[in-house]
Amino acid sequence: MKLHEYQSKTIFSKYGIPIPKGRVAATAQEAKQIADELGGRVVVKAQVLVGGRGKAGGVKLAKDSAEAEQLATQILGMEIKGLPVRKVLVDEASAIDQEIYFAITDDRSAKKPVIIASAAGGVDIEEVAAKNPEKIVKMHIDPLLGMREYIARDVAAAIDLPREYWRDFTKVAMALYEVYKATDATLAEINPLVITKDKKLVALDGKMMIDDNALFRQPELNEMRDTDEDAPSEIEARKYGLSFIKLDGNIGCMVNGAGLAMTSMDVIKLFGGEPANFLDVGGGASSEKVAAAMRIILTDPSVKAILFNIFGGITRCDEVARGILVAMDEVKPKVPMVVRLVGTNAEEGRRLLENANMITAETLADAAKKSVEAAKKGK
Ligand code: GDP
Ligand code: MN
Repeated sequence: MKLHEYQSKTIFSKYGIPIPKGRVAATAQEAKQIADELGGRVVVKAQVLVGGRGKAGGVKLAKDSAEAEQLATQILGMEIKGLPVRKVLVDEASAIDQEIYFAITDDRSAKKPVIIASAAGGVDIEEVAAKNPEKIVKMHIDPLLGMREYIARDVAAAIDLPREYWRDFTKVAMALYEVYKATDATLAEINPLVITKDKKLVALDGKMMIDDNALFRQPELNEMRDTDEDAPSEIEARKYGLSFIKLDGNIGCMVNGAGLAMTSMDVIKLFGGEPANFLDVGGGASSEKVAAAMRIILTDPSVKAILFNIFGGITRCDEVARGILVAMDEVKPKVPMVVRLVGTNAEEGRRLLENANMITAETLADAAKKSVEAAKKGK
């Protein structure tokens, strides 16, 4: 889950990272009022969950509150990379001497958090990474030791940060690691972390990504979720605790277990088909959950066939079959459905589905082949 800039910076501030004064506004009038409170010179910033807002014209400086109002009107009417701007952050404008990139993220292959830093921060950081990778410093953090002052100083030295800022930089680094740890973040990024003309270090921008699998213990962060960029089917799936990701193919997949779901998608592809989704209904799924999953799959108009691949362990095949029947009753699907049921109570499950007009399969390969054929006919 991504957090907005204003949300990320509020969290940064709680941990002691300096941020500019400012507030978020949903209307141009509000933006004007905030600008007045801040003394007029402000920066008006689109709050959307994509990067590169500056380059897209979503970050603008205003010399007074009237201009802030004007800019807010303009930015609130924008779409950036397909996302509508519903809020702007109005921050006191900073006079910038240098823009630094500073982030902590997961390095999955090293199984450690990694610090990424550069003296050449700002809106062109991607270009720097591509053309001058030597300007990007990476340092791992031992998760058992956490961020240490000497690591922060090593980073400061590596990016040639003037010594007078090392103490403040260390504080920011320690605090950002605390943020990263406490929020179960997979990314905590400050770009730019600026040195201002009056020689202060300030986090001008903030971006955070939170591990979705940790949200159960981060209820406050979960509340901050902005679903603007999520597919409606994914939002619906989340309500039922289903792991669902919409994809571009035409074969709907209903599978229990993430590994089995991935395998099913691979085997569909092996036989020349394309999955319409990833879906793990989870272990011990109830018939209600199965029914919800089926409704979600069927609301996708590109779905031309559904593959059910259920390996009953903790999940009972008869319970899944009941869910399928409930959903069929409700949504009256018109697409062919291929079902492979094995394991706990498979017989009973099959018996329940006997009159449901489904194509049955013995093996996954067989089921995948049949669903690919069915989807082709359905086109
Ligand atoms: P992003 O483009 O989505 O990363 O948005 P940022 O918040 O990073 O803003 C983009 C750029 O706008 C920054 O890299 C700065 O160069 C500039 N900028 C943002 N806030 C200020 C400010 O208060 N003063 C000045 N002079 N420039 C700013
Ligand atoms: Mn930025």
